[in-house]
Amino acid sequence: MKTFQKIENETLYFSSCKECEAHCCNGEMGTLYAQIILEDFEKVYKKFPILFIYGELGYLKPVILLTNGKEFCRYVENNLCSIYEKRPSICKNYPLSAHLDNSIYIDKNCPAVGDKGTTIVEKGKINKQFNNYSFSNYQARYINTHFCFEEINNKNYLQKAITLNNINFYKFIKDFDDKYVNYHLKSLKNLDDYYFKAQA
Ligand code: SF4
Ligand code: SF4
Repeated sequence: MKTFQKIENETLYFSSCKECEAHCCNGEMGTLYAQIILEDFEKVYKKFPILFIYGELGYLKPVILLTNGKEFCRYVENNLCSIYEKRPSICKNYPLSAHLDNSIYIDKNCPAVGDKGTTIVEKGKINKQFNNYSFSNYQARYINTHFCFEEINNKNYLQKAITLNNINFYKFIKDFDDKYVNYHLKSLKNLDDYYFKAQA
């Protein structure tokens, strides 16, 4: 199970995935979906369903379904990611995670995080090798994503697409002249297969 903790002024190291059986890609270990920002849509829509969940205040949050909640991500082969260069940024970031408060969080349950290996975070700052756009001003990117869907956040335009682990995921049933909604609609072909439907 992932448990992210805020990084303060620590220095942390990342050893290797070699001894791990892809825990972070395993639906049985709690990996199901990840929230995404607008910059991610084009990168993920061909390989993952992009769906929506409702946030606490009723706003829409776009997410990608990484697993069906029971099995490994379909792109795991021999405990490794078979789309490594093209994996979503959320996977590239892991065990780090960007946060709405613009702090960086880390999952210390990842077995590779510890006091050996490559420096992943030095005195609270991410090593260049692990850094990418999503860690830069995440709060503004998150808010921008939120406003992008706020205008079309209408229950009449949305329908439940799938329920996994008691979480309802929604899709748009109305076509909009909006490139992000179009990526979402195109991504739905990834839902129409046995991997997801058998678990719904
Ligand atoms: S990132 Fe961590 S949890 Fe994921 S495969 Fe590597 S060692 Fe395992
Ligand atoms: S895309 Fe790759 S890294 Fe991400 S969950 Fe799937 S197998 Fe794991």
